[in-house]
Amino acid sequence: MKKIKRKKTKIIKIGNIEVGGNNPVAIQSMTNTPTKNIKKTIEQIKKLEKAGCEIIRVAVPDIASSQVLRKIKKSINIPLVADIHFSAKIAIESINQGVDKLRINPGNFPEKELGQIIKLSKRKKIPIRVGVNAGSLDQKILKKYGSPNAQAMVESAMKSIKKMENHNFKNLVIALKASDINRTIDAYEILSKKVDYPLHLGITEAGTEFSGTIKSSIGLGYLLLNGIGDTIRISLSADPVKEVRVAWEILKALDLRNRGIKMVSCPTCARATINVTKLAPQVEKMTENIKKPLKIAVMGCIVNGPGEAGEVDLAVVGAGKKAMIITKGDKKRLIEKKDILKEFKKEIDKIK
Ligand code: SF4
Repeated sequence: MKKIKRKKTKIIKIGNIEVGGNNPVAIQSMTNTPTKNIKKTIEQIKKLEKAGCEIIRVAVPDIASSQVLRKIKKSINIPLVADIHFSAKIAIESINQGVDKLRINPGNFPEKELGQIIKLSKRKKIPIRVGVNAGSLDQKILKKYGSPNAQAMVESAMKSIKKMENHNFKNLVIALKASDINRTIDAYEILSKKVDYPLHLGITEAGTEFSGTIKSSIGLGYLLLNGIGDTIRISLSADPVKEVRVAWEILKALDLRNRGIKMVSCPTCARATINVTKLAPQVEKMTENIKKPLKIAVMGCIVNGPGEAGEVDLAVVGAGKKAMIITKGDKKRLIEKKDILKEFKKEIDKIK
């Protein structure tokens, strides 16, 4: 894999996390509980934290939702971002409740109200993410380009950035989202050459768990490989914990982050002497909460098994009537097939 040369962007602080510059690509997600249901929202954020979410965004559709943000923030350990459309009153209440960042579309606010939001954000030293979505572009720009293409998205983003900079506000993160890969890639590539603010990547409304994972992996994978992107969110019509898992897998696959299990498992064939299809997901489940980076292999037979095993920390390989556990340093031992999971767990407990 080619060495990724990340574009150096401005460093922006979101609560206790820094994005941009040389900081690792940060993983974000968004809750799908009603924000004003404090208990459910906190419960979901805790699950997301456990899965490795590093920044959490909540939608704040009404004033009641903004008034619970302080309580939510007190109960969680990751920065809290308030996502606000149209209402300056909600934005101001959210800032006063102590959120760590706002996500707004500056075009949705009259100039005077935008000024008030910016003034307060400056005072509280919180950044603002300016989000441009292909589905809700400025009407004038849309008319100029005829369709929400990449150029139209970039022009819309530049207009929003200018609006913020006119208030001498540069504590910005920028996002440019479309629901298809080509437009998203084009838009980010163009924008990345024009500004040095950190870029938040995502394929918006990417789809269900399966199709959305593929779309996000291709789109974000391409951009990240080309050095673009400081934070990512995978949008799936699924439990947001899945979004975080996919985000990690993408970053691990690109060697941009390292956490928990990196798994190698074979597709099996007529040579397989252990049931890899059943075992590999069981091993994955058993190890999903491990944070220490570990490489694990589950291989069906000794043809390729030991070779792959040599490059991982722990492997199980089908070996005729038995199974073979191989640990780093090439220590091999034969075990009964019925004991594979139990023995595997013992080895993991030793190294984790
Ligand atoms: S490791 Fe063995 S069982 Fe698995 S695909 Fe390769 S040859 Fe087949």
